[in-house]
Amino acid sequence: MRTLEERVMADARSPDNSCIRCGSTGTTCGRHYNGPRQHLYGKGRGIKGHPVVVADFCKECDALFQEGCVPKAEFEKRLIYSEEFQHYCILSLMRRIWKGVIQ
Ligand SMILES: [Zn+2]
Repeated sequence: MRTLEERVMADARSPDNSCIRCGSTGTTCGRHYNGPRQHLYGKGRGIKGHPVVVADFCKECDALFQEGCVPKAEFEKRLIYSEEFQHYCILSLMRRIWKGVIQ
């Protein structure tokens, strides 16, 4: 039996799965939330965050959410980044529940 992480990532990269941000298909994969609250969601050294905190992004949108793309000193920008990333994680989670990937 596959783990929740395996089911989430397989769903994220399935060919018919669209990017949760722009709707494109073909390059979508799952991206773990990597914002300032990532450690509260299970992220640790060598440990991935919880698989419900994953957004389905295409290659282009994924590039906007690379770890370190907003310097830690820019607190307000980090909060906006975090809120936007979490929003896409929630939308991806809702879609996975509707599809029955997560019950
Ligand atoms: Zn996209």
